[in-house]
Amino acid sequence: MATTTSESKSWLSRFNATPLYVRILSAMMLRLVTGLLLGEHASFLEVPSRVILQLLAALAPPLILIAVVHVLMTTQISGRTAGRLAGLLLLNTTVAIAIGLTVANVMKPGTWSKLERPEAPASKESTTVSPVDLLIQNVPKSILGPLSDKQNIIGVIFIAVAFGIALRGVKSKPVNNVQDFVEIGYQVVLTMLHWIIQVVPIGVFAIVAKVVGTEGFSPFKAMGAFVLAVLIALSLQTGWYLLRIRLFSWARPMDVLRGMRDALAMAFSTDSSTATMPVTYECLTQKVGIREQSASMGALVGANFNNDGTALYEAMSALFVAQLLGQHLTITQQLIVVVTSIIASVGAAGIPEAGLVTMTLVFTAVGLPVEYIALLLTVDWFLDRCRTTINVLGDVNVSCLLDGKIKPVVIGVSATS
Ligand code: ASP
Repeated sequence: MATTTSESKSWLSRFNATPLYVRILSAMMLRLVTGLLLGEHASFLEVPSRVILQLLAALAPPLILIAVVHVLMTTQISGRTAGRLAGLLLLNTTVAIAIGLTVANVMKPGTWSKLERPEAPASKESTTVSPVDLLIQNVPKSILGPLSDKQNIIGVIFIAVAFGIALRGVKSKPVNNVQDFVEIGYQVVLTMLHWIIQVVPIGVFAIVAKVVGTEGFSPFKAMGAFVLAVLIALSLQTGWYLLRIRLFSWARPMDVLRGMRDALAMAFSTDSSTATMPVTYECLTQKVGIREQSASMGALVGANFNNDGTALYEAMSALFVAQLLGQHLTITQQLIVVVTSIIASVGAAGIPEAGLVTMTLVFTAVGLPVEYIALLLTVDWFLDRCRTTINVLGDVNVSCLLDGKIKPVVIGVSATS
């Protein structure tokens, strides 16, 4: 018995120690085989992905709320600088989304293969509720929703269990002021997000097995085109940053890239702009020679609010899935994608896969099925690294622009080392 426990423990620690992208890749191989074996019968495998995506969608609004409250409460910034910073951030994010949408409209990666649009749940013929439907209905669609619905007791229990377990980790933290309270709220939401992200590979497994089983391999041609389109768009965004630095800052673009090498490599390898933040700040001040005040505005505030790579990716993903399903997005709908992607990128925490959580907002706003976000997960372990690197480069860009055209005269700091 004791051996079984220690065996299962070591299995669990091995599972936890395996990087998320390895788990996702293994799930991908397994699901291809399962999809091929099950064929048409694979359609029931959609259920786990729907549950996981529904949970991610439920976390999105509180995450955005608390992330924004947290940044506003904790940053010290004067009104004038705040206005300038907000202007820079909005411009960069809008350019990122415009680049993303243009590349997606020109390359049309989603038309490289076609998927059937899934049937809307309301149009299902049978009126009897299967246990699976019952499960999906009871998974909370929002954190507060079940509390106002006296029928949804299971949903309330779901939320109570989640909060209860997440709060155990912070129960002995003292709450002396409102900031401590917000800090704890933020940590609790991030803990729950972490749990859901751990089971994301199961969702990936399920949706891809379903797609391979019911539609064959053709959708994956489109995934390749999508990866290429995102990489092209992110490169164009890099060009935009470097051009702006060349025109509006004393720093030279190539010196900036050289000085920021450590931070960019760290962003790519950790998938997290928040984890990279101290290195970003250090490189900006020590290697590039940016003034501390500009570096702290760009890197510290920017790491929370400024996620251009995420904004670009969310807008492109919405357009890609619409193309894949043959659903035309009008100009008005694409404008809705722009606005929701800006909001979603501001709310995305600087941690791995956070962009996927807030992406549910973009999809819902234009009526795209959120299940298809799970399909993007097949490539997200790689694209997340690329967009995180651009998120950090966006912070670097803002720091350089805030530093202006006059080079600081600081003895002992090398601008190019
Ligand atoms: N991983 C990204 C970051 O840390 C957020 C995202 O998922 O888009 O900046």
